[in-house]
Amino acid sequence: MVDRRDFLAAAAAAVMGSAEAAPQLAANGGTPVRAKPLGGANWGPQYYDGKEQRQLEEVLESRNPFRFSNPLDKSKVALFENEYAARMQTKYALAVTSGTAALHVAMAALEVGPGDEVILPAWTWYSCYNTVIQAGGLPVFAEIDESFNIDPKAIEALITPQTKVIMAVHLQGNPADMDPILGIARKHRLKVLEDGSQSVGASYQGKPLGSMGDIGIYSLQQSKTITAGEGGALVTSDPYLYERACRFHDVTVRRDFPSKLGFIPGLNYRMNEFTGGVLLAQLRKLDTIIGDVRRNARRVYGGIGDLPDAHRRHLPDPDGELGTGIFLGFRTKEERQRYADAMKAEGVPVAGPGGSVILPIVPEIEQKVTVTPRWPSFSSDRGKSIRYGRECCARTIDILSRFAGVMMNPKYTERDTADAIAAVRKVHPAIVRA
Ligand SMILES: *Cc1c(COP(=O)(O)O)cnc(C)c1O
Repeated sequence: MVDRRDFLAAAAAAVMGSAEAAPQLAANGGTPVRAKPLGGANWGPQYYDGKEQRQLEEVLESRNPFRFSNPLDKSKVALFENEYAARMQTKYALAVTSGTAALHVAMAALEVGPGDEVILPAWTWYSCYNTVIQAGGLPVFAEIDESFNIDPKAIEALITPQTKVIMAVHLQGNPADMDPILGIARKHRLKVLEDGSQSVGASYQGKPLGSMGDIGIYSLQQSKTITAGEGGALVTSDPYLYERACRFHDVTVRRDFPSKLGFIPGLNYRMNEFTGGVLLAQLRKLDTIIGDVRRNARRVYGGIGDLPDAHRRHLPDPDGELGTGIFLGFRTKEERQRYADAMKAEGVPVAGPGGSVILPIVPEIEQKVTVTPRWPSFSSDRGKSIRYGRECCARTIDILSRFAGVMMNPKYTERDTADAIAAVRKVHPAIVRA
């Protein structure tokens, strides 16, 4: 096995202090580990087969793609919701049109409005920030830690009497450290909104992500775990929050159980039956997909586990994460760049943390751009005085500049993961010893 051979060669080189025994890096003219570069692809679509096709055909044949003109026991969207709630171990699930829609619905359900503050990580997707702004609330950024998720130790200093919600975002397959976050929320009587968009199917200490906070949301867009191209879901076990969410997502109409609450001027984020059918088929494959990616990630983790000085991304629950990327940290941004260049030459490219944006340093966010200039988010004294920009996320910028990882794919073969291991074993010691 090539990785074992490289390991022995590297070990021999280390013992003898001899440069000759170490394999020549492809970046220095050596033979690359792979001729054809290892490349990923979106996960869910690789599993499309007759199951999704049949679901779509059934909707076509029904000539009835609007969810609420189908009976509850026939609607594919309703079936998807039932199975999704069961998978996430929550009482309720609500299907919506996107993860962004789910966040917007969650803001309304949690009654986030002008004057309310929401704490969110400085590294996450635009939708997390934009939906707080849309609600008229004030986003307050927290630093991340080496899990790339919100640092629980950064949260308490940001809490004010106006704080209403902590947004725990589970990024790139890795659960946020929920125990301390839930503890802080309880102590200060705050709501917790979990965003599991990049970690659908992952768990924290045996609990599905999204099931621990007051509300969990997910994106089912093409780059996430399972997908119909677009789609989203919201889960909760609180009937009050569920009904508020249902009403908001359907222009206040409450169609399938007797209404307890009054009017909420909501929008239309209803899912259609085509999307529901594809997502139902995909949901039934969720554990296969994440089982496949976890198996591949574990092979790679196992194959590099003994590398000296390999500094892994922090995993609050290694059993619960998906293994989206095998991220290693370096001392400097320059050292990471040398690693990335050398890995690319070996045919096993690595990527920095991705799929999110360092929001406080986006110029328009730093300038507090809103839909129209006089927006409630920034018109209060507190809103006027809050400062975004580098000063609120220096550590986030530093951490993200120093990590890089081989991205995993559920369909990688044993050969692919062996090549990934061989390349890391070949390159990493050369970079960190230099
Ligand atoms: C993708 C994503 C969203 C938004 O989902 P869409 O379905 O694209 O609207 C929200 N939060 C996070 C963390 C995401 O990665």
